Amino acid sequence: MLESPLLPEAKGYVAGRWDDAGAMSTFDVIDPATGDRLATLPDMGAGGATAAIEAAVVAVRDSVAVKTRRRWLTRIAEALLREQDELARIITLENGKPVAEAKGEVQYAAQFFAYYAGGLGRLQPQELSDVIRGCRWTVHHRPAGVAALITPWNFPLAMLAKKFAAALAAGCASVIKPAEATPLTALALATLIDRELELPAGRFNVVIGEPAPIGEMLCTHPAVRLVSFTGSTDTGAKLAALAAPHIKRLAMELGGNAPFIVFADADLDLAADELMKNKFRAGGQTCVCTNRVYVAAEVADAFAKKVTQRADALKVGRGTDGADIGPLINRAGYDKVARHVRDAVEQGARVVHGGDASVQPPGPGAEHGCFYPPTVLAGMKPTMKIASEETFGPVVAVFEFGSEGEAIAAANRTIHGLAAYVFTADGERGRRVCDSLTFGHVGLNTATGPTAEAPFGGMKQSGFGREGGAEGLLEFCETQVVAAAAGA
Ligand code: ADP
Repeated sequence: MLESPLLPEAKGYVAGRWDDAGAMSTFDVIDPATGDRLATLPDMGAGGATAAIEAAVVAVRDSVAVKTRRRWLTRIAEALLREQDELARIITLENGKPVAEAKGEVQYAAQFFAYYAGGLGRLQPQELSDVIRGCRWTVHHRPAGVAALITPWNFPLAMLAKKFAAALAAGCASVIKPAEATPLTALALATLIDRELELPAGRFNVVIGEPAPIGEMLCTHPAVRLVSFTGSTDTGAKLAALAAPHIKRLAMELGGNAPFIVFADADLDLAADELMKNKFRAGGQTCVCTNRVYVAAEVADAFAKKVTQRADALKVGRGTDGADIGPLINRAGYDKVARHVRDAVEQGARVVHGGDASVQPPGPGAEHGCFYPPTVLAGMKPTMKIASEETFGPVVAVFEFGSEGEAIAAANRTIHGLAAYVFTADGERGRRVCDSLTFGHVGLNTATGPTAEAPFGGMKQSGFGREGGAEGLLEFCETQVVAAAAGA
C-alpha cells in the first residue's frame, strides 16, 4: 500500500469501519506514469455494496439538525485544505495529473463543502403567502434517502465532493463507488472523515472493486433512492436502464464534446490563453475540455500559430516532476487519441504541432507510461472522428468557419451538450450565440469550468441533473407539500 498517513488501511469503508466485505479477490491500483503498483485492494463486489446500502439505510433513519450538517461540511472543507499537499500527492500518483493541478482540485473540492455549509438556508420550508382551497401550503425539501454516488477517475476528489457535499447537506446517506483506477483518494477522504467527524456510522461509505457487480447492486437495490453518476454516456445509459424498473431518481453527468468558437473580432491572445488552460487541464481528459475549435477562416492560421507557440512551452512528463501534462490514464486512452489524430491526418488535416510522430509510443502491450504530446491540427473536416467523438487527450483540432450561423450549426452538431466557449468582441453577437448553443455550461470570452456556486450539467446526451448551486442541493431532496386546513 502506498505509504501515506491518509491511507492507514487497504480496505473500503462501510458503517464507520474499514471493511473488505470478505472479498475473495483483489485489484491493483497503478501509477499511470510508471506502471508501478501503488496498492492492492479488496474487490468488495455486490456483497460489499449491499452491506454499505444497509448501513446507509440505518443512518438515514435519524434526521440530523441543519446546524450539525453545517458543522460537518465546514470541518470537511477545513480538513481538505489542511491536508491538500498529501491529498494532491495521492491524486497525482493514481491519476497522473501534475501536482499543481491536483492541488487545485483539492481546493475546488473544498469549495463545494464550504458552499453548501453556507447554503443550507435553501432547505428552509417555504409557506405560500395565500390561503388556497382553505389550506395553508408549505413546501418542504426532505432528504432523498440513500444516495449512490458513482464517480470517474479524471477528478478523483472533485467529482466525489460535488455529489457528497450536496448529499450530506441535504441529509442523505451516501454509498460511494469511486473509479477502480483511482480509489485511493476516496479512501483518503474516508480517513479524514473517520478521524475528524462524529459522522454517524453509515452516512458515508466507500465500496471499491470491479464496477459492474457493485454498480448493478447500487442501481437495483430497493433501498437506494437516488443514483448520481459521472462518467461516459455509454455507462450512464447502462446504469439508467438498470435503475429504470425501480423508478430511482437519477442525476447523470456524462460525456461532452465541447466546441470553442473564435470570431474574427475576438482578442486572439486571450482566446489562446484560455484555450490552453481549458484544453490541456488533466492532459485533455476532462468532460469540459474543448474538443473542437471553430475559428473564423480569416484568423484561423494566426490563431493556430498562437496556440502552437504556447503548446510548445508545455512540458510532458510525470506529474510529480513538475510536468504540465502527465500521462494519459491508460493504453486505451492513448490508443483513442492516436486513432483520432491518425484519422484526421488520413482525411487531410495538417499537423501544425506534435502528433504521433513526435512521441515515443508506449511499448507493445504496455498499459501505462502512455504520454501523448500536445498536438495542434489544422484543416479539420466534419467527417473526421474528432468532430463527433470525445478525444480525451491533448489535441487542439482547428476547424474553419465562414459565417456566424455556420459556426453555431457546427458547434451544436453533436449528441452532447455539456460545455461550449465563445470568443468575440461584439457583445450583441456574444449574447446571440450563447442563446443558440445547446450546452449546459457556456463561457463567453472565458473558458472557465464550473464553480460550486452555480449549477453545472448537460443537455442532450451529456445527461441531466445539476451539480453545484441550489439546484445541486435540491437534486438530493424530495419535495413534499403539506396542505394544512387553515384554522387546524
Ligand atoms: P470513463 O470513460 O471515464 O472511464 P466510465 O463511465 O467507464 O467512464 O466510468 C465512470 C464510473 O463508472 C467509474 O466509477 C467506473 O468504475 C464506473 N463504471 C463503469 N462501468 C460500470 C458498470 N457497468 N456499472 C457500474 N459502474 C460502472
